[in-house]
Amino acid sequence: MRITVYGTRGGTPIARPGIRHYGGNTTCLRVHSTCLPVGTALLVDAGTGIVPASFDLLAEGIRRIVLLMTHYHHDHTLGFPLAPHTFDQAVPIDVHGPREHGIGPRQVFQALMSAPFFPVDYAVVAGHITCHDLDAVGTDALVIHPRDGVRRADPGELERRAGAGPDALQECLVVRTHRTVHSGCTVSYRFEERPTGKVAVLLTDHEDAEALPPDLRRHVSDADLLIQDAQYTRAQYRARTAGFGHGTGDHAARLLKECDVGRLGLTHHDPMANDPDVDAIVGEARTWLADNGAAARGGAVFACADYQVIEV
Ligand SMILES: [Zn+2]
Ligand SMILES: [Zn+2]
Repeated sequence: MRITVYGTRGGTPIARPGIRHYGGNTTCLRVHSTCLPVGTALLVDAGTGIVPASFDLLAEGIRRIVLLMTHYHHDHTLGFPLAPHTFDQAVPIDVHGPREHGIGPRQVFQALMSAPFFPVDYAVVAGHITCHDLDAVGTDALVIHPRDGVRRADPGELERRAGAGPDALQECLVVRTHRTVHSGCTVSYRFEERPTGKVAVLLTDHEDAEALPPDLRRHVSDADLLIQDAQYTRAQYRARTAGFGHGTGDHAARLLKECDVGRLGLTHHDPMANDPDVDAIVGEARTWLADNGAAARGGAVFACADYQVIEV
């Protein structure tokens, strides 16, 4: 499994000299796996990073896109109306995203692509886009098979097959969901590549609670790679951003230690943060680990950068 990071900025896309290393695109990631059908690309979120991602998919000749949405704040949707594939009727796009209060991915895209916000109405492009609502985040899961494609996991299927014996999911990428602590229904995705045993978790737009809930511990446990929201420094968080729905390096480091995570990539960088400010948050996470008896893992903490490729 491999992750290409196309967007790491939270809040708003930004461009200025001080962010040349980490970049200014908002959230979009691509998950590469041998479990995906040939010609299918798996993306998470449609922040402005989805525009360069779509350019890469065009060059590759991708024939189908599966897009998982964490939630619908602007920094996670802004690129969708301008991604070339949104207008390419030859490439089906399957979108899976949370639905709350009757608002799912379809309603969001209809609103984004309508006058006076956008010149092309969603109805013009909707023919090749299929939206699937996640109504039960935490229970809903997807199963992706290299020949059979993407389907919803049947209720109880993942638990039933977790034990010994023949495993019908052994060729699959299993994608589990968990609700984050954020405003509105926001999804963290856990990717389990069964043939290799590799696990990656994206936990963005999340603010840690004081106590680690058992279901979050289960969701993150034993991940080889955790990509987690660490928008704020410790001082910012204490002074004014607690309750904003975003995390710190300390929060992320705690999950790494308590959930036995292999490597930690920090993301959702603040639009005000220049490269050294992001490095400082990495430093805080490493310090937390050293102060809490996990110094050996300090080198496993980094901050994600736009266009970075991470082997899981
Ligand atoms: Zn965000
Ligand atoms: Zn958000």
